[in-house]
Amino acid sequence: MAELLTGLGVSAGLAAGPVHRVAAAPQLPRPTPVADPAAEAQRAVGALTSVAAELARRAEAATDPTAAEILRAQVMMAEDPVLREAVTERVKSGTGAPHAIDAALAEHRAAFTAAGGYLAERVADLDDLRDRAVAVCLGEPMPGIPDPGEPFILGARDLAPADTAGLDPARVLALVTADGGPTSHTTIVARALGLPAVVRCPGILDVPDGTLVTLDGASGDVTIGVDAGTVAETRRRERRRRERLSATSGPGRTADGHPVALLANIGSAADLVDDAEGVGLFRTELLYLDRTEPPGLDEQVTTYAEVFAAAGGRKVVLRTLDAGADKPLPFLHAGAEPNPALGVRGLRTARRRPEVLATQLAAIAQAAGATGADVWVMAPMVTTPAEAAEFAGQARALGLPTAGAMVEVPAAALRAEVLLRQVDFLSIGTNDLSQYAFAADRLCGDLADLLDPWQPVLLELIGGCARAGVAAGKPVGVCGEAAADPALAVVLTGLGVTSLSMSARAIPAVRSALADRTLAECQQLAAAALAAPDAAAARAVAGQLSG
Ligand code: PEP
Ligand code: MG
Repeated sequence: MAELLTGLGVSAGLAAGPVHRVAAAPQLPRPTPVADPAAEAQRAVGALTSVAAELARRAEAATDPTAAEILRAQVMMAEDPVLREAVTERVKSGTGAPHAIDAALAEHRAAFTAAGGYLAERVADLDDLRDRAVAVCLGEPMPGIPDPGEPFILGARDLAPADTAGLDPARVLALVTADGGPTSHTTIVARALGLPAVVRCPGILDVPDGTLVTLDGASGDVTIGVDAGTVAETRRRERRRRERLSATSGPGRTADGHPVALLANIGSAADLVDDAEGVGLFRTELLYLDRTEPPGLDEQVTTYAEVFAAAGGRKVVLRTLDAGADKPLPFLHAGAEPNPALGVRGLRTARRRPEVLATQLAAIAQAAGATGADVWVMAPMVTTPAEAAEFAGQARALGLPTAGAMVEVPAAALRAEVLLRQVDFLSIGTNDLSQYAFAADRLCGDLADLLDPWQPVLLELIGGCARAGVAAGKPVGVCGEAAADPALAVVLTGLGVTSLSMSARAIPAVRSALADRTLAECQQLAAAALAAPDAAAARAVAGQLSG
């Protein structure tokens, strides 16, 4: 008898197949006396070496540059001579290899936590390292993505970047996690890879590996213990759904022809796809990562020109460097800040190092001039009209005619009308706007309900910005994760936004959802979502009304 579990659908699509869960962290055995300390030390160091090799292999295979970066940092931790020395010392004094690794890493962990800031955020990576090295010592499978030899639905408590870096969409059919939320790493990865996903489905942890399940990433339904016929039928329906989506093309339009530009969020030229009407968010941080000094003007000109040329005449909205908080850069953030998300991040870093922004804008202007591309620039974390005016003035003085501001702070959203007197467009970063509107760290999984982009308060802030845009006759788009949810994209259109920018894979489903509704229907759905008491009710009422 099949059993229905319900979670939160965060990436639409159907999947069916056996579920296999990420291997659990190994348990330390009861300590036993060490007979041969030299051999035991070799076992411990050997475990760290093999973990470093495995993580290096995953870094090499990773398609997501941020995940590759995290993995390379983990390799360095595993190869750290200080850690190896600490492990060896413990073994010499009679501690077994797994316990020595556990204790040495616990010491590192405490030091990272005490240091705060960027290092404290790396604690989860240290824990992952510990689990892997202990598993190798004990001869258990390394925790991480299983390899059952057939396509499967991946179950987990939650997924970390180290788990998903090498995720192969040809082997993994869908994701289902016990924890997580609409902005968690699992959701972002699922959407980027085009995998159906359900989060907040705790029952999945009790399902034995190999059980056949079906999953609906729109409704959040996960049915456990289905038969082979249901699996085949579900896969047929998913194939038909994908065929329908890939048959859609062209600009974003509601059923009655109201245009809403569908743009791509990219980190480099490689992310650009033909399907997008342009780039709505070019995140430029990639170029600055892993550096002790910012990249020089010429290097930046080359990178930007590559993206502008790849856009082939389509508009490119480039965001200037957004460093700090969840994207720390050593050369801009020497000392730890007590509250990095409320600190010197985004455009604010120009207070400390104005030349970094000046060089970047000069490079953008040169690359735009050389390629003749339609380049729009915008600054992250703009908070006041004066900041917007200064940024726009600087950009225009360099010959960049279209300058905008990201709306990520409630102070900016509430003054959208005044901001629009200074800039040519606004782009709403819903990931950060949720964080700051709800005073909830966007990296904190426990607060996922507050960070839900269906929160009526967030919709209200977006609606206010969109109205200001209409009044000023200037574009107001959304470029956060909210734009990638097809049902929410319809609501955002009803609120009056003029463009939606998302990871490229999300575009067909959003295009298809828009094409199914008239503008008046989008407005009705928006009004219903705005009137709902909370995010879950807003999502539900929009779902009911759209049938
Ligand atoms: C956002 O905050 O919504 C956004 C698009 O920017 P990022 O996620 O890069 O901070
Ligand atoms: Mg942001």
